[in-house]
Amino acid sequence: MLLHLEAVTKSFEGFQLHPLTLSVERGEFFSLLGPSGCGKTTVLRLIGGFETPTSGRVILNDQDITRLPPHKRNVHTVFQRYALFPHLTVAENVAFPLHLKKLPSAEISERVKESLKLVEIEDLQDRRTHQISGGQAQRTALARALVAKPELVLLDEPLSALDPELRMKMREELKTICKKVGITFLLVTHDQEEALQLSDRIAVFKSGQCLQVGTPKTIYEDPSDTFVARFIGAVNEIPGDIQGEASPETGEIVLSSPLGMFKLKKNGHSLPKQVSVILRPEKMRLLRSKSTTQENLMEGEIQDLIYLGSRTEYAVKIGPSTFKVFEQELERLKKRRLNVGDRVFLAWRGDDAIVLPQST
Ligand code: ATP
Repeated sequence: MLLHLEAVTKSFEGFQLHPLTLSVERGEFFSLLGPSGCGKTTVLRLIGGFETPTSGRVILNDQDITRLPPHKRNVHTVFQRYALFPHLTVAENVAFPLHLKKLPSAEISERVKESLKLVEIEDLQDRRTHQISGGQAQRTALARALVAKPELVLLDEPLSALDPELRMKMREELKTICKKVGITFLLVTHDQEEALQLSDRIAVFKSGQCLQVGTPKTIYEDPSDTFVARFIGAVNEIPGDIQGEASPETGEIVLSSPLGMFKLKKNGHSLPKQVSVILRPEKMRLLRSKSTTQENLMEGEIQDLIYLGSRTEYAVKIGPSTFKVFEQELERLKKRRLNVGDRVFLAWRGDDAIVLPQST
């Protein structure tokens, strides 16, 4: 383990970081994900040394760094707006952390060259920062973060200032670079897709509290909480009551809901009687007519549809609720075309439902 937060708290007026215990492995790409104001940047600043915890400890490589100033930590922070020095060239910006360490100039120039090459901006080394694009500024900030070979790089929403196309490209490069240099990266983001794409593991925050830590697959497919489920992707929800015990042979449980009775599979969570059944839109099938199926079925009407090329997104009205269903184009082409107002059936498997306690 490289980084360990031990029951870290931080209080500001009107904000409280709940005791946070978290470990990040060496070489891991780890993300802190959550909505604006949930405390992600505060956690990053506590690790970087720009804030001191109200209580708890920050351990890096078995050393207690809780009260060390930022420059004494083997950690580099890339700020949202990159914080490049405008009066310096790209190469001078990148060299800056090495000058602070008072390394010999031959070594500095060798390492700057290596770092610029890694992020593919060798040819921009003599430009000043107002003569480079947003993407190039991002690469310069990254080169500066990597040049001193810190144990940990902290990234505060580093892609948010880039246009969508460049952001996608930089996401891929960031992941490649992280794996190439073997340095541990900790990213703050409110963008769930970015977190899913980049991270080995994600910690999801809400109002100063870490709700779940897990791999992207776990967070998406087995969220611990309805907030996490909603935050990480599109969801359909059916509130209802669990009837009786799970069947001993099949582990099946029955949900009684305003939309009907449904069969579910009991998962690892201990469940109260009142639950929320969460269904991802891609886990539901649109049937053009009622057919005999082992799956759960709900009848409704197409309220809206959006054609998105690779898939079509449908809004299906069932009783007072509206369900989102995504149908892949290949699947759609094999079937009868649907229009607004058509009667349809939604089929879903009990195994694909995420059953969680109802949120309060
Ligand atoms: P965003 O995505 O908008 O940057 P965030 O999840 O990173 O949000 P933080 O920046 O950690 O959130 O802020 C959490 C809360 O703490 C906010 O309510 C913020 O106003 C407050 N806060 C942060 N820093 C300070 C400070 N130095 N003094 C007082 N309050 C602060």
